[in-house]
Amino acid sequence: MLIFFLLAPLVLQSLEATDLRLAPPPREVSGLLAAPIDIQRLRANLVFDCEAKTASVESTLEFLSSDSGFPVFDLRQSLIKATLNQKPWPLEKLRLHDFGRQTGELRILESLLPSGVLHQLDLEYALRKPKAPQAKDILWEEGALEFDFWFTDLLPGRYLGQWFSSNLIFDAHPFDLEIQILHAKTPHRLVTNASVTKLGNHHWKLSFPADFTAFSPMVVILPESKVKVESRTIRAGKKKIEVEVVRRNEVPTSTKNLLDRAEKAVKDFSKSMGPWPHGSQCKIFIWTGGRSMEYDGATTSSVGALRHELFHSWYGRGVKPASQNDAWWDEAFDVYFSDGMRLSAKQAEIPGQAVALFSDDPWNRITHPASYMLGSHVFGRLSFVFSAKKLHSWMAEFFQINQRKVVTTKDLENFLAKKGKSDDVHAIFSRYVYGKK
Ligand SMILES: [Zn+2]
Repeated sequence: MLIFFLLAPLVLQSLEATDLRLAPPPREVSGLLAAPIDIQRLRANLVFDCEAKTASVESTLEFLSSDSGFPVFDLRQSLIKATLNQKPWPLEKLRLHDFGRQTGELRILESLLPSGVLHQLDLEYALRKPKAPQAKDILWEEGALEFDFWFTDLLPGRYLGQWFSSNLIFDAHPFDLEIQILHAKTPHRLVTNASVTKLGNHHWKLSFPADFTAFSPMVVILPESKVKVESRTIRAGKKKIEVEVVRRNEVPTSTKNLLDRAEKAVKDFSKSMGPWPHGSQCKIFIWTGGRSMEYDGATTSSVGALRHELFHSWYGRGVKPASQNDAWWDEAFDVYFSDGMRLSAKQAEIPGQAVALFSDDPWNRITHPASYMLGSHVFGRLSFVFSAKKLHSWMAEFFQINQRKVVTTKDLENFLAKKGKSDDVHAIFSRYVYGKK
């Protein structure tokens, strides 16, 4: 077990004061009323054993319950043992339930828990391939391993809940993770956006900060021999940032070239949107292939997607969507702003297709696939109505006010409506975000 905490009565908090104000409402699933929780802290201890080719986890989840239903959270692993508030808890009252195609599975803790006090759920399990769509297993080799959190926005249940207890993305909380690799026959490298304390050889303590949500933390582990690593301290505005590039050997682009690209992107976006919001480090893992992913101040990326993924450290993982329904704007603005997919004035004048990028299901966990192209047109039309210069300065201001916070589509819409002619902003959102003709 990890550090043992007694149940500490908390000062009673109003709903408005907790992350639950952004949570979806309770809903009935398999005859059970499931209600979101507010995670206060997660601690986990992960041990990889390269000889036995097994990985094991002990974790402690501290959370507040809303008392309007059974607590719901995500974890796509097979449990061995559970303890709720220091008492053994039956695993059959902690099962995964299917919340439907847009949400995927979530775990329901079948106990009505009082609100206003901290609850503690201790879990033990073997870490294996997550029971989530297109998930990846740990890759075991002789005396070595490869591991990647492997998040995606495009499938439900593919964030932190694949590996550890986690919440929907409205909830920000600290996460302390101890990782140890036993019986490795070759040195391994850890690539992460956590603050890391080295506890020994192949033994680290990772601290992810309190503003991280389920899609924020990045962890990649692999043999040192499979990568080239180079770092550079850059100055972007008044900030000094240590940029680290870890690239797989099969990537033909040099680490110097990748650092040049990263430096240019970070400097450009610091100038246009505001200072780098993720402390003094930027972690970049480069691989070949078509898939890339953004994390807070970090990315696992192909060479071609690097600029797009780094822009997400401003929009997407700098200002963060409160739900997957809100996640359209981070792709849309990224494609519009950093990829340069801009509508011509003529295209913007033609009434385009009405599209609901924001679904009416508050439990939705899939970013709408049209968020990229049709979503970028939302910003194209706004820039046509108000001028690109004005829109960009408003988006920079919105970033600076809301960086490292969780925001909704309404927050963005109302902000823009205050800045510009509100009828025009609401009309654009109504047709191209909410899909109303
Ligand atoms: Zn993206």
